[in-house]
Amino acid sequence: MSTIRENLERVKTRMAAAAQRSARPIEQIKLLAVSKTIAAERILEAYEAGQRHFAENRVQELCAKTTVLPENINWHLIGHLQQNKVRAALQSNAIIHSVDSMKLLQRIKRIAEELQSKATVLLEVNISGEDSKFGLDPEQVEPLLEICQEGAVKCLGLMTIAPYQAEEKELHRIFAALRELRDQLQQNCGLSLPELSMGMSGDFEAAIAEGATMLRIGSAIFGERTQ
Ligand SMILES: *Cc1c(COP(=O)(O)O)cnc(C)c1O
Repeated sequence: MSTIRENLERVKTRMAAAAQRSARPIEQIKLLAVSKTIAAERILEAYEAGQRHFAENRVQELCAKTTVLPENINWHLIGHLQQNKVRAALQSNAIIHSVDSMKLLQRIKRIAEELQSKATVLLEVNISGEDSKFGLDPEQVEPLLEICQEGAVKCLGLMTIAPYQAEEKELHRIFAALRELRDQLQQNCGLSLPELSMGMSGDFEAAIAEGATMLRIGSAIFGERTQ
């Protein structure tokens, strides 16, 4: 069995090759290690190998891990966020990738103001149109960006999840559509939206080719999850 350190190296080598094929600077592409269900000791192994960005999909698990792991980890929340977990999510200081409704965004803004903190978010878009997925329809995104123009919420960009085991062509179509939506929204709203959170263990090379800046990679680093 290969170690977490070796897996990280392998992923980074593949990232660098994909970036080079697209003539993109590798510095533009952040690797987020998706550590959901992974025990703190194994996360620490990745940390000791130099990894600093980690992503969780549940607020409770995120908060438990932030208290026992090094303070200089950058945390990301990538799972669906329930209204009643917003306060805890903000207190964890994680970047929230999964803002998928106006109601949720308004609540994030109100609670961030109350805490006198600043929320950093991405808006999750359901590009593939699968019923099973969370996320905004592409035409729903613009009104949410208006909420982020000022005040306690800063939007860095967009996030999407491609269908599991989609064909290569379909993956490129979905990731390119997220990038094009981002480009159009930047123009319409006069905002800077530098980040595109897209690409997982099975599809990150296609995501890099289409402009991903944040890859969310779990099993290729920590091995297959058992739960
Ligand atoms: C679990 C998860 C990932 C990572 O998936 P892998 O296939 O293990 O890389 C990425 N994004 C989201 C939203 C996830 O829930």
